[in-house]
Amino acid sequence: MLDLLLPPRCGGCRRVGAWLCAPCRAKIRRLEEPLCRRCGAEVPSPRSDCGCRARLPSLTRLRSAVAYEGPAERAIHRFKYEGWRRLARPLARLLAERLVVEGVAARWVVAVPLHRDRVLQRGFNQSELLARELRRLLVLEATAGALVRTRATPPQVGKDRRGRFENVRNAFAWRGPPLGGEAILLVDDVATTGATLNACAAALNEAGSGPVTGVSIARVNV
Ligand SMILES: [Zn+2]
Ligand SMILES: [Zn+2]
Repeated sequence: MLDLLLPPRCGGCRRVGAWLCAPCRAKIRRLEEPLCRRCGAEVPSPRSDCGCRARLPSLTRLRSAVAYEGPAERAIHRFKYEGWRRLARPLARLLAERLVVEGVAARWVVAVPLHRDRVLQRGFNQSELLARELRRLLVLEATAGALVRTRATPPQVGKDRRGRFENVRNAFAWRGPPLGGEAILLVDDVATTGATLNACAAALNEAGSGPVTGVSIARVNV
């Protein structure tokens, strides 16, 4: 509640006036072409599959708005670890702008879940706040169900690529009505290897989803 009473302060530079000030927004680096057309990673030359089809079989594609560096990295860190929940709106806007440019459409927006212990500890699921803002910006209804974590998994941070995929395998399930072949946007704050998004997409596919596009605010280049 407290942050509702405080004046907006920039998540990138802490300047008072806006949650993400114009100079910081201008400094945020958008991902640059050439990008892999499937997973959206920055690649040395244009290609339709950078090898991600084998790594991320359950995702139809993956799109991120910006590079995880500079003001975007600082803002996401404050949003996620320092409780600056109001950053959900300007961060989701970065993503919505990207999705509009790319012409990505879907019926539902689903958030990558946190385990309930983590939600209790943090007080919120950052991806759910982003999904809510994204629904508002794209004028989409909420789904009748939710993706859940079926087991606690240690944080992905600090694990190598292989460790990340093993850590989250079969860790998610859809709880709700079948997804009826509908296209889904699956939202996370940051994408690194895409392992978590892919494991979530596998659970959505099992529940009868159509194409699942993983979307994240920021992308770590790995
Ligand atoms: Zn700023
Ligand atoms: Zn790729």
